[in-house]
Amino acid sequence: MKSAILSVGTELLFGQVVNTNTAYLSQQLNFLGIDVMYHYTVGDNPQRLKEMIEMAFEDCDLVITTGGLGPTQDDMTKEIACEVLGDELVLHQPSLDYLEDMFRKGGRVMPENNRKQAYMPSRSVVFHNDAGTAPGFALEQNGKIIACLPGPPREMTNMFQKKLKPYLESLSDDCIYYRMIRTFGIGESQLEMELLPVINGQTDPTIATYAKEGESAVRIASKRKTMEEAQSAVDGMLEEVKKYIGEYIYSCDDEELVDVAAGKLMDKGITLSCAESCTGGLFASRMTDIAGISAVFDRGLVTYSNEAKMQELGVSAETLDKFGAVSEETAREMAEGLHRVSGSDFCISVTGIAGPGGGTEEKPVGTVFVGAHYKGETHCRKLQIRNISRKYIRHITVMNMLDMINKLI
Ligand code: ATP
Repeated sequence: MKSAILSVGTELLFGQVVNTNTAYLSQQLNFLGIDVMYHYTVGDNPQRLKEMIEMAFEDCDLVITTGGLGPTQDDMTKEIACEVLGDELVLHQPSLDYLEDMFRKGGRVMPENNRKQAYMPSRSVVFHNDAGTAPGFALEQNGKIIACLPGPPREMTNMFQKKLKPYLESLSDDCIYYRMIRTFGIGESQLEMELLPVINGQTDPTIATYAKEGESAVRIASKRKTMEEAQSAVDGMLEEVKKYIGEYIYSCDDEELVDVAAGKLMDKGITLSCAESCTGGLFASRMTDIAGISAVFDRGLVTYSNEAKMQELGVSAETLDKFGAVSEETAREMAEGLHRVSGSDFCISVTGIAGPGGGTEEKPVGTVFVGAHYKGETHCRKLQIRNISRKYIRHITVMNMLDMINKLI
């Protein structure tokens, strides 16, 4: 099935709002095996909206719109969808009841123009909006389908997952199953090289690689007559993939690196402390984003200056003098000192040059040392991160700290 995504809203054309809906829908449609041929954006102008939908239908069987379902006069998506696919708006009583009830519960009288939101194309499948006011719908005519979703991203994603996705899945006799494999420590192009023996000649399951900032992912997907068949094809291929890149995989279920690292610590009851220099608390912040981490996370120290490293962690003045604050020796002493003061099972430290200034020929910007003290041993990883930006260097550093936890436990 070929599709187009059409975003409605003048604020998008002005650049006041970034079009995240299109990116989200494209990814999701791709997962469903639906080809996305075009992205269109149009302001709140009925004539141009109509022309865009007609143009999209020249090539595509499915057009998904977002936005323009609100109660005001310039919200015209429903009216135009009806004009293009030959239908008319009629009162949809369940939607009206829901809207009136929502306003009643909020202690307000429903404004008259909100009634407009309860008028839906007579032949459409109506999608209830349990995250907002505007219902969405799908309308079909001679094999052409238009699906209209609300503009606010939270409402749109909620409706996509709960309503449109099952609707689209019901149109196909085939079942699609996919897994997203997440890797760290290998770039996308190298990943593709390593996987060439399995990628070459594959039609089903299909394998695609994706690059994210600092990490890469592999998507294995299969389309079969039954879900069991698709699942077993994907899982079989996953075993093959593991033979080539197993050492880089940290999740076979699309989890974030921080969730996997924190999960391991929590599952095994391993207590954690960190001492951060160049990341200035970023690692502790990422860790404490995780609900339930208080069971294992003891403390995070930001030891930015040499004095702090000496006072808080007992790093020796000789080490700082001889090897510098950014050195393997300092990182090791930071981790060991942290273990002395905290008694945590896993003590992780970091020191580095995040730039843009401060680099030297011997230690350019992006030179980072991560220390880890665990089970009586101290480990150190030296990083040479590309000098893209201070933000990038700090982000990749934290990813490496999480990876080190993953690998050592
Ligand atoms: P509602 O009446 O529930 O607000 P609507 O369908 O009329 O829904 P719009 O008025 O078009 O939605 O958009 C509401 C807001 O949603 C916009 O101001 C914008 O902040 C956000 N939004 C709309 N379209 C997009 C998009 N493509 N990407 C990201 N945000 C969007």
